[in-house]
Amino acid sequence: MKTFQDYEKLEKKYILPTYSRYPVLFVKGKGTKLWDIEGREYLDFIGGLGVCVVGHSHPRLVKAITQQAQNLMQVSNLYYTIPQIELGKVLSELSIRGKCFFTNSGVEANEGAVKLARKFAKTSMEVDKFEVITAYRSFHGRTFEMLSATGQAEKKKDFEPLPPGFKHVPLNDIKALKKAISKNTLAIMLEPIQGEGGIYPCSLEYLREVRKICNEEGLLLILDEVQTGMGRTGKMFGYENYGIEPDIITLAKGLGGGLPIGAFIAKNEIAKAFEPGDHGSTFGGNPLVCSGALETVKIIIDENLVENCAKVGNYFKIELEKVAKEATLIKEIRAHGLMIGVEFSEEIAWEIVLKFLKRGITCGNIGRKIIRFLPPLCINYQEVDTVITEFKSILKESEVSC
Ligand SMILES: *Cc1c(COP(=O)(O)O)cnc(C)c1O
Repeated sequence: MKTFQDYEKLEKKYILPTYSRYPVLFVKGKGTKLWDIEGREYLDFIGGLGVCVVGHSHPRLVKAITQQAQNLMQVSNLYYTIPQIELGKVLSELSIRGKCFFTNSGVEANEGAVKLARKFAKTSMEVDKFEVITAYRSFHGRTFEMLSATGQAEKKKDFEPLPPGFKHVPLNDIKALKKAISKNTLAIMLEPIQGEGGIYPCSLEYLREVRKICNEEGLLLILDEVQTGMGRTGKMFGYENYGIEPDIITLAKGLGGGLPIGAFIAKNEIAKAFEPGDHGSTFGGNPLVCSGALETVKIIIDENLVENCAKVGNYFKIELEKVAKEATLIKEIRAHGLMIGVEFSEEIAWEIVLKFLKRGITCGNIGRKIIRFLPPLCINYQEVDTVITEFKSILKESEVSC
């Protein structure tokens, strides 16, 4: 049988070197647990990067996609299929009561949302507006268009020239935003809580004010909820924390419970700008993936996972803050539901993640100073206690060695 080291060599030989991977190979998952090739058990606090919201291999999810796979996996969007239509209905009713388009990833959801906004401008506004304002430190995906939208210079510099039409402003600075708006401005696109940028939330006043400005200036508010959607922040959608609604919302990560699916949902008056032929996807919204997403949404609701996320997330935050009080290495805790970042005063994030891994816990790093937890929404208090106990011990170790 091949070992981890054998696969490590094969990966080097056959896979493009775009990822710096943690040194583990996983072969099985169940609920909040993972097992590596050597049979070691892990408590999963990164959940496939905020994806496995109902836990790994949930029996209902497995059953739904198994049955669907036996019936029909793909016919393309040349035809009607039941899971896509039912998923569209559920998501529309849960969110902004608009119309859905299904994609295969988060970046495609954002790309589609901006395409729709452009078409809406062409069909409904007198002037030709095209520009989208996004925030510094934002992350909207890896295509050329969404790299351009992303407010992180280091991710873009080797791939220029990037498509025009995006402008960046510092988050939570209303003055800067007002100054950036021009006659060309079409939309403002924000993550309610910046994820890949380091877990930085829009302040309550800021996002509410942005909504007001959009109304007054006739701009569209696009919320990239690829990470914050599907219960992650303790509400079904991140915008619910702010008492506002976007004009277009994008989803992905948690939506399929592990299956590759994204979506954008637009209010009806905007959605009608798209006509047949304006947008499409061969795989997007296929019955297999939609049946899994539909079951994932039903599990989230039936098992009260949004409430669980809020409760356990709040407990996790309180416990982390207690740890931070004792630890000189921790600079700040930023926690919203189960979207949690710990910022250190030193560049030790990678090392801390490896130490967690050695103790059988997965988490992730953002850059050199931040670690993050994006566990399944079904984790319990006891599992949080386990992570906290290990974290304390890791910090003790690190403080000595620093
Ligand atoms: C992960 C993420 C994306 C990109 O999603 P992909 O499925 O990797 O294309 C876009 N926006 C946000 C906010 C994300 O967290």
